[in-house]
Amino acid sequence: QKGQIRVQTENIFPIIKKFLYSDHEIFLRELVSNAIDATQKLKTLSSIGEAKGDLNDLRIDVVLNVEEKTLSIIDKGVGMTAEEVDKYLNQLAFSGAEEFLSKYKDANIIGHFGLGFYSAFMVSDKVEVFTKSFREGATGVYWSCDGSPEFELNEIEKEERGTRIVLHINEDSAEFLDGYRIRGILEKFCRFLPVPIFFSEEGVKEEEKDKELEEKPINNPNPIWVRKPSELTTEDYQNFYKELYPMGETPLFWIHLNVDFPFNLTGILYFPKIKQSYEIQKDKIQLYSNQVFVTDEVKDIVPEFLMLLHGVIDSPDIPLNVSRSYLQGDPNVKKINAHITKKVADKLDEMFRNERNSFEEKWDSLGLFVKYGMMTDDKFLDKGNKFLLLQDTADKKFYTLEEYKTAVEAVQKNKDGKTVIIYTTDPVQQDGYIKAAQGKDYKVVKLETLIDNAFINQMEMKWDSVHFVRVDSDIADNLVDVQEHSNSVLSGEEEEKLKGLFGFQVPDLTLKVEVKGLSADSAPVIATRPEFMRRMKDMAGM
Ligand code: ADP
Ligand code: MG
Repeated sequence: QKGQIRVQTENIFPIIKKFLYSDHEIFLRELVSNAIDATQKLKTLSSIGEAKGDLNDLRIDVVLNVEEKTLSIIDKGVGMTAEEVDKYLNQLAFSGAEEFLSKYKDANIIGHFGLGFYSAFMVSDKVEVFTKSFREGATGVYWSCDGSPEFELNEIEKEERGTRIVLHINEDSAEFLDGYRIRGILEKFCRFLPVPIFFSEEGVKEEEKDKELEEKPINNPNPIWVRKPSELTTEDYQNFYKELYPMGETPLFWIHLNVDFPFNLTGILYFPKIKQSYEIQKDKIQLYSNQVFVTDEVKDIVPEFLMLLHGVIDSPDIPLNVSRSYLQGDPNVKKINAHITKKVADKLDEMFRNERNSFEEKWDSLGLFVKYGMMTDDKFLDKGNKFLLLQDTADKKFYTLEEYKTAVEAVQKNKDGKTVIIYTTDPVQQDGYIKAAQGKDYKVVKLETLIDNAFINQMEMKWDSVHFVRVDSDIADNLVDVQEHSNSVLSGEEEEKLKGLFGFQVPDLTLKVEVKGLSADSAPVIATRPEFMRRMKDMAGM
């Protein structure tokens, strides 16, 4: 037998109320989004001559009345006729937004599923809708519903075009009768929505009102990430950064993302200045969908190593009701992730090739991203190999890996044919060793940040033509292992004597005393710790 599943509305309503969103504050995002959609639809229709009338004063008002326990969302958008109310509001999961989009392709519409409106019932005993369509000769319509499947639908007198939704906030949701709370929610979700949004309180004494605040829109309706990069100046980008992070220092540079195939993605990623890795703050990237704030937990969408970046990403292909598990499995999210990695790598590559000096100046901050990226993402590793820089301690010059190999070819190849990268983790403390190595014409590079230890371990596995040696891991003569060393000038007996003498001074059993010939200008005694032993200790946290 085949058939159709039936839905019992009395039963589905309580489920929606409880489980539509775990975060109840989302209702406001949904209702304001609908008001935005209604306004944007009017703009679209007007631009093709299907709607007449005044579009100059398009705005959305959110009005709180504590005495009456109501919250109203008022727009001057397309409004609805009685038939439309019946179609869109009385039919659960029927989306007028989808319908509109299928007709007018390019419109920027937020709605999708035809459920958002019902989130109003999460916080309301009763919802009233007063609406009037933009169509000529339309009459006003009143709809109300108390959360049961019964509704009321009447014609009414209504002057202005558009929709007023009045929520009668229920006992459990009294938190939403607080002006600070509502303003806070609006600032969070609606900060960059494309129509000016105002918040005001009714029934408050005039002298208690902050008039100035109420007359200022909550949002910046025209954030720069939706504009064309060619129209924007350096100042625009820097000002927008300030808007996002008022306390932030000027960023190093930024990438304006602008993709429309095979998915839609816009946004701006800023590279912050980083002096010490402990200053790093994650969760600084905000995710938007058609300018509606979704979340600032961008894990999965942004590759792990780029979570250190700041900025915004906007993709209508990321659904508004994202949940952790959903994001992980979403194919668009994977593609977006890969795209961002590629864009960042390309940008770094381009900067490196075209403005190497300024790239080098920024290396202190950039190095951290690049190294982290090379360690965690093999695609990025390929590209990073070209612009990873090693800084020499002697002439302070920067070398790419290839350049370093070429520069040291004559003196730093070991018996396996690998290039030995001699590095220091502390140029001051290891100064004596560095001098000794430089005396042998070795180039000692600085790998002194917190991430470098792990970086070295990983790269040694990934770069098979390279061997890392810390400058103090052996006497300079032996840093580059060209052959078996037996350069002692002492007799066996003399060696044993010396070993005994120094062995006595070195109680640590992991250390051993060797007698080796040193060059004339070297210190008479040198303490070293073999590279492998030090790394074992580092790994064991000793
Ligand atoms: P969606 O936005 O996903 O389509 P909703 O449940 O949020 O679903 O809304 C259902 C429909 O009701 C919308 O698509 C729209 O046609 C209509 N609607 C809701 N709010 C308004 C409004 N403020 N003005 C005009 N139409 C609206
Ligand atoms: Mg909606």
